[in-house]
Amino acid sequence: MTEAFLHYIWQHQMVARTLATTDGQPVAVHRAGDLNRDAGPDFFNSHLAIGGVEWVGNIEVHLRSSDWNAHRHTQDPAYNNVILHVVYEHDCDIRLQNGIVPPTLELRRFIHPALVANYDTLMEPATDDSIPCAQRLPQVPGFIVDSALERLVVERIESKSKDVRRLLEESRGSWEQTCYWLMARYFGGKVNALPFELLAKATDQRLLARWKDNPQRIEALLLGQAGLLEGYFEDDYPRQLQADYEALRDGAYLQPIDGYLWRFFRLRPSAFPTIRISQFAHLVSSSSNLFSTLLDTPEADRLERLFDCQASPYWENHYHFDQPTSRSTVKRLGRMQAQLLVINAWVPLLFVYGDVRGQQQYKEQAVGLLAQLPPEDNAILRRFQAAGLTPANAAQSQALLQLHNNYCLNRQCLQCRIGHSIIKQIPKEL
Ligand code: SF4
Repeated sequence: MTEAFLHYIWQHQMVARTLATTDGQPVAVHRAGDLNRDAGPDFFNSHLAIGGVEWVGNIEVHLRSSDWNAHRHTQDPAYNNVILHVVYEHDCDIRLQNGIVPPTLELRRFIHPALVANYDTLMEPATDDSIPCAQRLPQVPGFIVDSALERLVVERIESKSKDVRRLLEESRGSWEQTCYWLMARYFGGKVNALPFELLAKATDQRLLARWKDNPQRIEALLLGQAGLLEGYFEDDYPRQLQADYEALRDGAYLQPIDGYLWRFFRLRPSAFPTIRISQFAHLVSSSSNLFSTLLDTPEADRLERLFDCQASPYWENHYHFDQPTSRSTVKRLGRMQAQLLVINAWVPLLFVYGDVRGQQQYKEQAVGLLAQLPPEDNAILRRFQAAGLTPANAAQSQALLQLHNNYCLNRQCLQCRIGHSIIKQIPKEL
């Protein structure tokens, strides 16, 4: 038994219908009260009838009555409004600071043992990496799982919106700028997110818009601003890019970022910054108002096609300048990466857009996009699958990732709707 579980039991009134204090007075609960997570009594504004007398006040919950003394509540007038001391085990009488002895309710007499057993099952130490409630999950009704996932996907999107809100603030509320910076950041993947963001911030979108019909110029501008066009090159293509960049730089007083910021180590060659910058150049050149274009694209498959851009032909047999590869392949971003861009960058941006403007339809559009995409496949989702919970789309897989990372891992089962359903599964005879 834990105090957190006692709070939970009291909050949800998972107790017998007939309650009585330790001195035999019947207790009727009209209102359990508001759980207080700060200093002071555990529940405020409770409404009870004790021995037929109506009381409105606070409730303090402890594992044992003697915890009242251990926590020095007798010396604290903040507890003088306690109308009932709820304990798991009554081991001594206690007193308020004003001398009154409050009635005590010993909960262990009124809790069904199955409730405690259910809770214990969820809290059992892990012996493998399966979902802690894997055995019980199949008994949870589908509508409860669905409603839990619907709430969790929104929580997941909100937790991903930190970068969006930061960039929106930095851009002083410009959605186009935020979108351009954010997309750049996500083109960098985990490893090169920061240099990509710095590159976008160092390269004014208006300058790119001026060359939108000339992808090679945009590529020259971005690779030059990335600090990757410095030095001597053998091949014609980088020499041409270098010449283009120098002409643009002198006219626009451009300042490149440091080339050493880019990381190639431990990356798949197809994710090298050279390739990704070229692909990003093609995305930027295909739309000078990227945000407006994306906003007008409610279909996930069209967004995928838009993001699945292709590096310029030089990169078909290069990963670095002047180093030809034996095999030649078209370097597209790829469908999976394009889907991840929708999931991780565009959906949170669209959601925040709806939130900031108070337009619910954009928030719904963001969740709707996830529902159009296939679920991801990773070790965490395979654990849920093994427990009988297979996500139908990316909205559900994102929800399951949120559930795993923020609830299952920390055993926050008392805050989880699925956990609530499992704990509640007790015979009805009490
Ligand atoms: S948090 Fe929910 S889903 Fe995760 S183990 Fe606990 S009850 Fe199961």
